[in-house]
Amino acid sequence: MTDRIPASGPQPDPYNALLARLRSQQVPFSVMWELTHRCNLRCVMCYNVPTGRRELSTDECLDVLAQLAEAGTLRLTFTGGEILMRRDFFAIAGRARALGFALDLKTNGVLITPAIAEQIADLDPVELDLSLLAATPERSDAIMGGRDTLPAILRAARLLRERGVRVRFNTLLLDLNLSEREALLDLAARFGVYYQQTFKISPGDDGNRRAECHQLSVEAMAAVLAADRTPLRTLDCSPDGRTCLVGLASCLIAPDGIVYPCVELRIPAGDLRRQRFAEVWAAAPILRQLREQHVRANLSDCRACALADCCEGRCAGLAWKEHGDPYAGHTLACWHAQARYLERHPGQAIPETSYLARQKGGRR
Ligand code: SF4
Ligand code: SF4
Repeated sequence: MTDRIPASGPQPDPYNALLARLRSQQVPFSVMWELTHRCNLRCVMCYNVPTGRRELSTDECLDVLAQLAEAGTLRLTFTGGEILMRRDFFAIAGRARALGFALDLKTNGVLITPAIAEQIADLDPVELDLSLLAATPERSDAIMGGRDTLPAILRAARLLRERGVRVRFNTLLLDLNLSEREALLDLAARFGVYYQQTFKISPGDDGNRRAECHQLSVEAMAAVLAADRTPLRTLDCSPDGRTCLVGLASCLIAPDGIVYPCVELRIPAGDLRRQRFAEVWAAAPILRQLREQHVRANLSDCRACALADCCEGRCAGLAWKEHGDPYAGHTLACWHAQARYLERHPGQAIPETSYLARQKGGRR
């Protein structure tokens, strides 16, 4: 990785150049913070598992914010649980904005009233993600485990758009909502919001795989990719290439102040009730190990996979949750790669990936 800008020729995008420089200097420029695991809904695919540990208090949160600013964090994502379940949310988010962080907010939107929309607009978030899981009221309630969820989410989108907030609908495609995909796209267009969809069902934070029964098949994913013509995001297949930047420039803070490498890889890096953030970031063994070792040459399955050029979803955290090894392949990424292959080579036999072949062979 380089932070040098060429003297001539096309100039890189200044934001990407800044990110590359911060990454090369291992500045924690992006932090995701789960402010609470409490939630007003019970989504079927929720991965949060309450730990029973006390959430950071308002004062502790404000102190952590100051530490993040000192450490060079620029982008801060507040998520949950449901962020609005915290009565002090606007005290925390307001301080974050005053400290100059660029804020991203993730909420299910159901609790957003005109007054709350006004307060959110005052925060001027870079983006606000609203979970949208169905286009019909009954199905939305069934998936989200609440009442009148769809009208509430759409009302939130309208209130926020009226106040100039950049809103994105975030949809996890499941067997339960696949038939409503076109209607979901129409809703996004009608409300003038961005739309993002994913196939990734995460195992629970404790490794439970209850939601996996709702995972789309390879064929269903291929059909969605073909219909959407989503461009393939090829990964860097060089020996020192990385499938993601885990450990380099971002991390996750859980409600109780435990720091993890990211939302999926829940190997504790430190505890902000006992340590300063800068100390955790610089010295945590798991973060140091990822920085040094999370490169393709060390990915036992992926470095020689026949489908590597179709693989765009490999996730160290999901691999770790599946079998305890963050450096191996994992089922969902392999299925996703097979779906990509099928989309690009319709009718052809789908090649086996290294990881799936190893699983079938029973070798570990
Ligand atoms: S083994 Fe699976 S996760 Fe690894 S490169 Fe191949 S498709 Fe991707
Ligand atoms: S390990 Fe997975 S969740 Fe974590 S940063 Fe990488 S791709 Fe994202």
